Amino acid sequence: MKIVKVESFLVSVPFKEEYRGSYLNVHRGIKRAEHVIVRVHTDDGLVGFGETIGGASTIYLIDHLFGPAIIGYDPLDLERILELMDELDGWWRGSSIHCFQKAGIEYALYDLIGKSLKLPVHKLLGGCYREKIPLSWSIGIKPPKATAAEAEKRVAEGYRTVNLKIGSDIDRDIESVRLVRERVGDNVKIRADANQAFSSEVAIKVIKKMSKYELEYVEQPVPAHPISNMIKVVNAVDTPVSADESVISIQDCIEVIENEAADIIAIKPLKHGGLYNAKKVAIIAEAAGIPCMMGGKCELGIGVIASAHLVAASKIIEYDAEITGVLRHRADILEEPLKYQQGCLEVPTEPGFGVNVDDSKLQEFAIFAGTPPQKIWKN
Ligand SMILES: [Mg+2]
Repeated sequence: MKIVKVESFLVSVPFKEEYRGSYLNVHRGIKRAEHVIVRVHTDDGLVGFGETIGGASTIYLIDHLFGPAIIGYDPLDLERILELMDELDGWWRGSSIHCFQKAGIEYALYDLIGKSLKLPVHKLLGGCYREKIPLSWSIGIKPPKATAAEAEKRVAEGYRTVNLKIGSDIDRDIESVRLVRERVGDNVKIRADANQAFSSEVAIKVIKKMSKYELEYVEQPVPAHPISNMIKVVNAVDTPVSADESVISIQDCIEVIENEAADIIAIKPLKHGGLYNAKKVAIIAEAAGIPCMMGGKCELGIGVIASAHLVAASKIIEYDAEITGVLRHRADILEEPLKYQQGCLEVPTEPGFGVNVDDSKLQEFAIFAGTPPQKIWKN
């Protein structure tokens, strides 16, 4: 089996409502996300789909750098293909410069491998450890009362964990956590993600004030680097601390473990450069006795289900997963909707990712596809 064609499509699907997070203390509301859908064809007529985030630059790199380079390779020779893409990428912090672009292609290769072997992707990553994935619902930054109302609504839908985006205003963050705890009771897990918003001094104060509301953990309260930021917080608070932006490459994962800079690691296959590297991060964390959580990048159906297959196959990715991105969008590009029910996501058992892309929806939401690069900037 040989790769004969690699295509990419930039799609943009509006959100149902604005989703606000804190990124290094810059507060951005997102009303729609740009996704790149990757389609890889083989000489025996198989088609694999991948998905990643990013805009025109992602399309450019897939169409003009990584895509042409892998023509003629057998998708099953993943190690060789990943090495080739890393060589083209240059080396920086573990070859993670263009992790998103490489991951989009790698996902499509996994879909192809699964289809060619007639196995679901989780069987390639460790087999079925979980058939259904319990989920956490992430609530964007909004006023405390609205935050609590949304938490209550999601718990009623079956979610047993809610994640609060924090980092905009300390008093408001604490009030949100207080109100959510009051409304959902003690049996629901509450976690918070600050997306690097605080200095270590402020983070320590905020987390200590929130400790009476029994947070499951606080994610990335401080800037990802230097790692001393995280170490200070981990050493000063009783609440568990999770590393997200601090762990991009496999080397980052080792740095966090060696420095005891986190209690939990947030895995996201896109940021690690794909499912294969994400599994390596999970295995290293497991060896160090650090449990993991599958996070999300507000993906559509392909991106979500790729992550779901990895959770299904990885015992150590044990925290309720934040792979609900597709539910934030007004539509998806799949023929059949993903099976979300009672705060869980069912993992498909059909070959590859076990989902089919609806061509008409891909066209409907495509901003452009196969467009010469000079035209990209006009869209
Ligand atoms: Mg995060």
